[in-house]
Amino acid sequence: MFDPVAVIADLVRAPSVSTDSKFAEGMAAARARLVALFMQMGLDVEEVPTPLHPAIFATRTGPADWPHVVIYGHYDVQPADPLDLWHTPAFEPTIKDGRMFGRGTADNKGPMMVHITAAARLLEKYPDLPLRLSFLIEGEEEIGSPSFSAILDHLGDRIKGDFVLLSDTQSPGTDQIAITTALRGITCVEVELSGASSDVHSGLHGGALLNPIRALCDLCSSLHNPDGTVNIPGFYDSVVPPQDWERAEIAKLQQTPQQYAESLGVKGFTSVHGLNPFEVTRLMPTLEFNGIKGGYQGDGSKTIIPSKASVKISCRLVANQDPVVIEQLVIDAIRARAPELLQLSIRKDHYGPPYRVTPAGKEPADPAQNPHLSAAFSCRW
Ligand SMILES: [Zn+2]
Repeated sequence: MFDPVAVIADLVRAPSVSTDSKFAEGMAAARARLVALFMQMGLDVEEVPTPLHPAIFATRTGPADWPHVVIYGHYDVQPADPLDLWHTPAFEPTIKDGRMFGRGTADNKGPMMVHITAAARLLEKYPDLPLRLSFLIEGEEEIGSPSFSAILDHLGDRIKGDFVLLSDTQSPGTDQIAITTALRGITCVEVELSGASSDVHSGLHGGALLNPIRALCDLCSSLHNPDGTVNIPGFYDSVVPPQDWERAEIAKLQQTPQQYAESLGVKGFTSVHGLNPFEVTRLMPTLEFNGIKGGYQGDGSKTIIPSKASVKISCRLVANQDPVVIEQLVIDAIRARAPELLQLSIRKDHYGPPYRVTPAGKEPADPAQNPHLSAAFSCRW
């Protein structure tokens, strides 16, 4: 059996920054370390080529009636900049007070190794275990997984499992393990209002023109009600109300709202739908303004009426919201409320559906209810 901590250290020493071609050697080194590890475990290993960074597919095959567990991970990391804010070298694993520091220890090299180690120990103890097992370790997660569908197409039926286990989520704290059963989806749009063909002088034209910044602010503020809920017809129609069991699970989080506020440096939280901050961030959809621009941004003043103003908007979605439907509801509301005196343009950006799985016996009943998830829920550790 290998020493998992030593393997994590080897992986952290390989600077596998997928976004920067200067780190190609680090990518190759991380990949080679994992290939060697999977071969040591007796798995069949294949590197799946992509235009950028190959994925690793390592598998333990067996008869079709054996259960098939698929485990996902990624070997690439985010850039380590700014380097001067690191207390220890980013790519030199350093153990302090029982914790390892270094780029990738938390995302995803360390957590991924928990699954690999657990599987290796299980197979060592039960070499004849009737279990099919596949690891898919990607090298492009931090750049948005551009090759992921092609990888899945390439693997075809070989990647179809009874369930997928992944560690690329959040832990509430060092003393608490959580199972992530849902992830919010997203839909993004960019909205621009434009008036005069160029910025014009407010002394000469002010008062006669509708200022795009003012109109955009009116438009933005119309998208929420005073209580913080989203003011778009139909926005909440398909949202499943928070279930008592979900709220009970969330209540087990060890963090208090005050600790959460302190960790963010905020004075407190808005209270939307009567839910606490831990509930509302997990169970409800949102509409947020991510960036706004328009007019003069330099030092001092410049007395113009800007020709245009724009805002980037994204919605976080919960099951069973459909990102395409919600995107259209947002666009319809904006079109209906935009002033006639200005030109409106809306650019659709990316979207992704929400994900949710409900353990057996819990509401709302989920057609894809998963006995493995229920087994995990019944574990106590
Ligand atoms: Zn990750």
